[in-house]
Amino acid sequence: MNFYLPTKIITGKDCVKANAVLFKNFGSRCLIVTGKTSAKKCGALNDVTQALDSVGVTYEIFDKITQNPHICDCMEGGKVARETCAEFIIGIGGGSPLDAAKAVAVFATNDIGENDLYAMNLQNKPLKVIAVGTTAGTGSEVTQVSVITSSDGLKKSFRADCSFPALCLGDATYTSFMPDTVMRSTATDALSHCIESYFCKTSNAVSRMFALEGAKNIIKIFKKLDRCENLDFCNREELYIASLYGGIAISVTGTAFPHALGYFLTEDYGVAHGTACAVYLPEFIRYNIENASEVAKDFFEGVGTDSKTLIALIEKTAPKTDISLSEQKAKQLYPRWINNKCISKMYGQMSADKLQDIVIKCIVNGQNL
Ligand code: NAP
Ligand code: FE
Repeated sequence: MNFYLPTKIITGKDCVKANAVLFKNFGSRCLIVTGKTSAKKCGALNDVTQALDSVGVTYEIFDKITQNPHICDCMEGGKVARETCAEFIIGIGGGSPLDAAKAVAVFATNDIGENDLYAMNLQNKPLKVIAVGTTAGTGSEVTQVSVITSSDGLKKSFRADCSFPALCLGDATYTSFMPDTVMRSTATDALSHCIESYFCKTSNAVSRMFALEGAKNIIKIFKKLDRCENLDFCNREELYIASLYGGIAISVTGTAFPHALGYFLTEDYGVAHGTACAVYLPEFIRYNIENASEVAKDFFEGVGTDSKTLIALIEKTAPKTDISLSEQKAKQLYPRWINNKCISKMYGQMSADKLQDIVIKCIVNGQNL
């Protein structure tokens, strides 16, 4: 067993304002890192600033973070944090601002370039991060991982225990402002985390428990969406908490081939992260039924849904992509699959050649588009 989760997690309606006093424990001045608009629209930014005002903590707002956050913006955020003497960082948003907040926290205390960030070659400890989630997807609130687009345009991650947020304040009210496609894409990302983590050889009893419970609850929500039922606050909270379970599960195992093969769809074609994972998720399930039948049996018993129903639900719920990729172009991606981290985590005989075959099957032949 190897499990570490240093994040204090508080969820519930109005939990930001109700726990304002906690902000004071982190210092008297902070930097809020967020995206361009949604934190304002969904009310999260207002709740955070009111809470900070109520306990006398001053703040600056850095709202330049875009989707698939770019390294340059994170470096700029770090500079702002230094110049304004921020003592801690509050990230508000989906995975993009939350991941960016973790990078800003590093750059605030370390005068380093991007290579040192990805290698986590640090001179000093990063500032502490408080995560206020507004999507029910990445679970970045409870992971030590941050995915930042590098200067060569590739999505690269860093991972270190010092990058776990210290506090997660999750009010699912914010998630009700997501447009339907964002909600579906981010929920599929959360389900993908649970399923990928469960089928990693690096899983353990704790990660599998969170992965199973998360998957079960997300499948319940997918069934509601399939019946065209509206999600009420309880459903949204259930989905949000399930996304945290997915985050906790991947904090142990990392992700598998749906994530590894999904990144180029985002980098080269602008496909939303969860939608990109969904392209491969049915194939991932089929792969594991064939190569990890006992694990698959436990999984489907645990979630109380058979594989056919689950695959159909994923195909109906996840937003569709309409990219076209020639076999020749798919083959040019091959160097990316050599030594890919996901290979050694998979059951069966996974290899770079098989990863390439999966890309061809799912995208070139359009099986899952
Ligand atoms: P996101 O990129 O943070 O946000 C997607 C879009 O939704 C943005 O336009 C955003 O607006 C908007 N939005 C966010 N919350 C909203 C709300 N409550 N109401 C209305 N609109 C809202 O999406 P995400 O899927 O949560 O994050 C994806 C990123 O996380 C990717 O970069 C992915 O690689 C990373 N990720 C990280 C981990 C991890 O463990 N750290 C795991 C999986 C994925 P604004 O731009 O205005 O904010
Ligand atoms: Fe993800």
